[in-house]
Amino acid sequence: MKNIVIFGAPGAGKGTQSEFIVQRYGLTHISTGDLLRKEIADRTELGLRIKSIMDSGSLVSDDIVVEMIDKAIAADTQGILFDGFPRNVKQAEILDQLLAKHGRAITCMVRLDVPKEELIQRMLLRAKVSGRSDDNEETIRHRLVEYEEKTLPVASYYEKQGKELLIDGTGSIEDISKRIIDAIS
Ligand code: ADP
Repeated sequence: MKNIVIFGAPGAGKGTQSEFIVQRYGLTHISTGDLLRKEIADRTELGLRIKSIMDSGSLVSDDIVVEMIDKAIAADTQGILFDGFPRNVKQAEILDQLLAKHGRAITCMVRLDVPKEELIQRMLLRAKVSGRSDDNEETIRHRLVEYEEKTLPVASYYEKQGKELLIDGTGSIEDISKRIIDAIS
C-alpha cells in the first residue's frame, strides 16, 4: 500500500498532479486545503474560526489539521495521497506517528520544483478564475513566505530519510505526470 506526500510551493501544481496520482495508483486523495475550505463553505463552527486565518494566507493551527488527518487515516484502506500536509516539520513528525499506529509509513515524497517567478505568475493567473478568497497578490506573497519559512524544512525531513523525489514541475501537465511515474517506479 502506497502512502505518498505531494509537496511544493503554492502554485506548484499539487492539485493537478494529485488528481493524476490518485487515479494512477488507486489512492485516497486527502487535501487539507480542500477539507478546510469545505468547513468554511458549510459554515461549521470550525469554518467560522479559520476563515480569517486562511484568507490572510497564514497556516491554521496544527491541532485542527492533525485531527482531520487522524480521522482520514483511520478510515482509509487503500493508501493515501497527502496534499497540503505536512506543512511544517511538527506535522511531518506527527504524520509518521499516526501512520505507525496503523502499521503504515510514508512511501515517498513527490516534490514539484518550480521557480518562484513562475509560481507568482501562475497564481495570479489562477486568481482570475479560481474564486478562492486567498488568491490575491498580497495573500499570495504571504503564502509564499509561510511556505519558505515553515514548509520548506519539511523537504529536508524527507530527504534525510531518502524519500524525496525531486521533480521538475515546469513544462506540460502530461510531461510532469510522466516524470512523476518514472520517479515513483
Ligand atoms: P496552496 O498550497 O495553493 O496555498 P492549500 O489549499 O493547500 O493551498 O491551502 C490553503 C490554506 O489552507 C493555507 O494557506 C492554510 O491557511 C490552510 N492549510 C492547508 N493545509 C494546512 C496545513 N497542513 N496546516 C496548516 N494550514 C493549512
